[in-house]
Amino acid sequence: MSVSYDVVIPSTGRESLGRLLRALRTGYGPLPERVLVVDDRPDAERPLTVPEGVEVVRGPARGPAAARNVGWRAASAEWVAFLDDDVVPPSGWRDALAGDLSRPPEAAASQGRIVVPLPRHRRPTDWERNVAGLERARWATADMAFRRCALAAVGGFDERFRHAYREDSDLGLRLTNAGFRVERGRRHVLHPVGPADPWTSLRLQAGNVDDVLMRALHGPRWRERAGAPRGRLRRHLATTAAGLSGLAALAARRPTPAAVGLGLWAVGTAELACARIAPGPRATREVALMLWTSALMPPVAALQWGLGHARRRRLLADAARAPRAERAAARPLAVLLDRDGTLIEDVPYNGDPRRVRPVPGARRAVERLRHAGVKLAVVSNQSGIGRGLIDERQVAAVNARVDELLGPLGPWLVCPHPPDAGCDCRKPGPGLVLRAAERLGVAPEHCAVIGDIGADVEAAMAAGARPVLVPTPRTRREEIAAAPEVAGSLAEAVDRLLDTGDARTEALAA
Ligand SMILES: [Mg+2]
Ligand SMILES: [Zn+2]
Repeated sequence: MSVSYDVVIPSTGRESLGRLLRALRTGYGPLPERVLVVDDRPDAERPLTVPEGVEVVRGPARGPAAARNVGWRAASAEWVAFLDDDVVPPSGWRDALAGDLSRPPEAAASQGRIVVPLPRHRRPTDWERNVAGLERARWATADMAFRRCALAAVGGFDERFRHAYREDSDLGLRLTNAGFRVERGRRHVLHPVGPADPWTSLRLQAGNVDDVLMRALHGPRWRERAGAPRGRLRRHLATTAAGLSGLAALAARRPTPAAVGLGLWAVGTAELACARIAPGPRATREVALMLWTSALMPPVAALQWGLGHARRRRLLADAARAPRAERAAARPLAVLLDRDGTLIEDVPYNGDPRRVRPVPGARRAVERLRHAGVKLAVVSNQSGIGRGLIDERQVAAVNARVDELLGPLGPWLVCPHPPDAGCDCRKPGPGLVLRAAERLGVAPEHCAVIGDIGADVEAAMAAGARPVLVPTPRTRREEIAAAPEVAGSLAEAVDRLLDTGDARTEALAA
């Protein structure tokens, strides 16, 4: 059985790395062509000490997603097997890996099983149970092998994920969305429970930022699709809100609401502490740790969640760290078009069908999309309705005129709300794009959005669709700079969307 694979290990220089490298060399089965350790220590003065034959490449110290990207790009074999630096492959791991990689020849990725050894003489602590959760994780990169061409086709890991959290689910979703198959292998690695300090459970709450990013990238139903269990975020938010309202009432010397708020806070905190203590060893130290960390956990989780939302836009706009290749990977199944400034000349708050002027080349561009079997829809902000400047009938008349001039454009999705209404449909919110995708029966990931301003681009990205910006003289320079794809005209945008070919076949044939 001949299998061509490289092993890539991102490492922050933990002691467990030596144990892993020794275990990898002993044992039986086909050897990897290369073993690459990505040295991702932020302050590396001396080089990492590794056995002979192991290559060390320098990582950017921006988290495991970025480190793994450096690793697989430096690799050369057909398969890249990622291992985390704290796992231990058993002696038969290489042999089992070779079996997994040669079994279904069309699979693009293979996931190893993770086994977390727990103490037998007592019940596991909260931290131990937390690590053991890895055994149920889908697509966990602690032991995950990918065809290098599949990684290239989707652009590798999304480096906007900065923690060792959710970057693997994100990649798994993008691979399966692109039509690649991810198999569960038969091999397994051991993942011993590493050291933890009293603050670990609170530091892990930073993962709430990554959950916000997951939702922005993959839509509200991402947990189902990635097999990620719902966490306790909602309860944490409720407990925190109760505590804050209690404190506010206390400050305002209103004893009854203060007692209610603080009482609810105490109930929420006690419930959390009990849920963490009950299955554990119930030793005095563990109980004490659970009590004070349970008091802090809800506010810390709420804070991280809030931070994630505050940074959401900036994170999403960080196109330099987003996997670009993925965006060019597949021809969209549907194209959602902005109306004003994209299909027709922008006449602010126009209610008069006689003033509709298509932009140059619009008719032909739309025709080409229709001809290519791409579904169409229009997504348009019409705040003039909410502002009382025009009414729905006038907007419908203008839309009918656009349909008349450019041929049927599919369903029209219009947000009538003014900007301060706080609706979720108004672009840059994802609502219109998500609804259009649903109406067309196409996943947002397979939709492209063509628009003329930053709000169109952001709405697309928030919904997980692919944005193409066609700037007009009114488009701001920062909006152009922030857009992942920019085209000079509507025709050029359609060129980009149609002429990409089938990246999956190309990649597998490469
Ligand atoms: Mg527009
Ligand atoms: Zn709206």
